[in-house]
Amino acid sequence: MQTVKIYDLNVEYDIVHRNVKYWRLELKNEKLRIIAPEGYGDYERIIEKHKNWIYKKFKAIDASKYEAKQRKLNYGISEEEFKEMIHEFVKKFSLELDVTVNKVYFRKMKSRWGSCSSRNNISINRYLRYLPESLIEYVVFHEVAHLVELNHSKRFWNIIQEKFNDYKDIEKELSIYWFAIKDTIIRVQFSESKT
Ligand SMILES: [Zn+2]
Repeated sequence: MQTVKIYDLNVEYDIVHRNVKYWRLELKNEKLRIIAPEGYGDYERIIEKHKNWIYKKFKAIDASKYEAKQRKLNYGISEEEFKEMIHEFVKKFSLELDVTVNKVYFRKMKSRWGSCSSRNNISINRYLRYLPESLIEYVVFHEVAHLVELNHSKRFWNIIQEKFNDYKDIEKELSIYWFAIKDTIIRVQFSESKT
């Protein structure tokens, strides 16, 4: 792990060599990663060139973390009630969007709220249970909509926007809640598993 100073921030980053043609930057779990082809070397130049983008991303994370402290998690719904709610939404939205969901999996995921596969399976993050119902509803709709349009294309966001006009705010809210989950539930579980 190396550190670079961008304005008032100390940014940690690492470099991963992969069999790629061009380098790219990735921000995952609050860490900056440069993915570069074998032998590529001028990382400082890459960072310098993109410092404003990097800075903006890290500042946005800081802002979300701050906001997260003001969000309350919902502990009032059981695992079974949560699963039932998900299945209801899946049923409703697959009718609405005229798609068939094959299977719904529940997983503890550390970087996303949900995912879907080309085999029409949907995975739902079990941590979603602690979020307000309106956000749960959105995540399910988002994943079911991926059965219509697999990628985050313009067409995909059009489908989303038709139902959730304020989807950009919702997406932001989801990232804020992510930090709330991380700060409470995941941290607690991590320390519990260590003891
Ligand atoms: Zn998506």
